[in-house]
Amino acid sequence: MARTKFVCGNWKMHKTVAESLALVKELAGGLGEAAGKVQVAVAPPFTALKAVGEGLARSGPIELSAQDVHWEKQGAFTGEVSVTMLADLGCRHCIVGHSERRQFFGETDETVRKKTAALLAGGIAPIVCVGEPRAEREAGRTLEVVDRQVRQGLAGLSGEQLGKITVAYEPVWAIGTGKTATTAQAQEVHATIRTILRELAGTVADSMRIQYGGSVKPDNARDLMSQPDVDGALVGGASLKAPDFLAIVRGALR
Ligand code: PEP
Repeated sequence: MARTKFVCGNWKMHKTVAESLALVKELAGGLGEAAGKVQVAVAPPFTALKAVGEGLARSGPIELSAQDVHWEKQGAFTGEVSVTMLADLGCRHCIVGHSERRQFFGETDETVRKKTAALLAGGIAPIVCVGEPRAEREAGRTLEVVDRQVRQGLAGLSGEQLGKITVAYEPVWAIGTGKTATTAQAQEVHATIRTILRELAGTVADSMRIQYGGSVKPDNARDLMSQPDVDGALVGGASLKAPDFLAIVRGALR
């Protein structure tokens, strides 16, 4: 099945409001033939979501994503942000379970499950990140780890809900390290994820996008995204420079 490729830039804790606006303007102006052919989103920090959302509404077909969310609707949760608040700013997507959240901020498969369900209930499409740490890869446990993260993070969802989700396979050892998975390593894990999604969602799984993330750069993006089950990219470092991110987006064109 032909799936529209989906490329999302995760800006992490980078960019002031003014810097964010400058970057998004450059991106919108440079999409060229990729506009409308590749789905493109950016995930600025919370502080820049409003301004970037307004900038995007004026300037083009790039969608807004958040980097995280809390699962409760409201309440005494200092420092947290709800699904309603993100929807209010025009967020169409939200990253969940990024390995940095799992590593440094106590994210678990259970909190991923709660956040994913809350986002779906609030009309925001989750990008659910999974991926094995280096020790698990070296111990030959990659598929076991990813299997657990996918099944537990997506537990209890209907086929229709699953159809709204993007899964991002991000091997932890490849994030921010300059070490990218080989195309064969990526395809092996993506195909395994697709098989699990078929068990969970039936034929809906054939339309679900599975992004690859982990040191995606202009020179490796096309090869990675040419694999049959690699349906786009979640891009960290290279999404902070417009020429690099635009080159990666162009790499998604067939
Ligand atoms: C990420 O953090 O989602 C990521 C893939 O980072 P990088 O591209 O910098 O490896």
